[in-house]
Amino acid sequence: MTEDNQKIKKSDILSWDKVTLDKILQSNDMIPGNFRGKISLDPDKDFVLNSHIGQNLENICPTNAISYKNPPESISLDVGKCIFCGNCQQEAPQLIKISNNFDVAKKRKNHLLEVFSESVPFGKTYEEIGNELKNKINKTFGRSLAIREIDAGSCNGCEIEISALTNPIYDIERFGMHFVASPRHADLLLVTGPASKNMEKALKIAYESTPEPKLVIAVGACACSGGIFGKNYATTGGIDSIVPVDVFIPGCPPRPQALIYGIMLALDKI
Ligand code: SF4
Ligand code: SF4
Repeated sequence: MTEDNQKIKKSDILSWDKVTLDKILQSNDMIPGNFRGKISLDPDKDFVLNSHIGQNLENICPTNAISYKNPPESISLDVGKCIFCGNCQQEAPQLIKISNNFDVAKKRKNHLLEVFSESVPFGKTYEEIGNELKNKINKTFGRSLAIREIDAGSCNGCEIEISALTNPIYDIERFGMHFVASPRHADLLLVTGPASKNMEKALKIAYESTPEPKLVIAVGACACSGGIFGKNYATTGGIDSIVPVDVFIPGCPPRPQALIYGIMLALDKI
């Protein structure tokens, strides 16, 4: 290789590094326009709910997340059951709005029930939430936050998003959070899956083995409500039937931004 070639190669690498880092920093907050996040019943001014629309919505929802009642004409949406398929928005875009906001987690299961609510844009970015968490973890623990992931019968879609938290783009370790191999070393459990009956005992044992503060987050529609599996001979219909849950993060699966928002809500409980 000539000296000239070497120079070209070095400068290429330097500019590639710079472009890549810039892109990574920007992409933390870049959410694709078609990403299905917070879902709400936010009717247009002229929208009138009737039994035809209400019953259609109930019928097209694959997880019974939508309930229509008459009389009086009313509709409700259980976001904990929703798999964000988008069928309802296609059927009644004047009523159902799926935004790309990722602040979907709630501290109580009944708060996942939407009646009529306006879709309000969420103002914080992934980076801002991560930095808030970093300060809170430092103040509360004086060390990093240890997370144990427990798969209680998931399809592994949620695990793919959880693993993304440790990739170079989301990289939660820089905010003072890391995954551990045992619940005995964990402060917080991220639990996925509906939970299957076969995992019921294992989940209980894992919870009992976790030292205080023993925070538990239900990740995904399955862990929140049973999701697409519901409650049947093999599943329990949500992990809150087995262990106490501090935060519910809906989604199928929830993306990394939604996960970090849920972790922030869980730490509020300490
Ligand atoms: S987006 Fe959710 S509420 Fe709407 S039809 Fe699909 S599962 Fe049901
Ligand atoms: S919520 Fe969806 S992605 Fe997560 S385990 Fe259930 S089916 Fe899979």
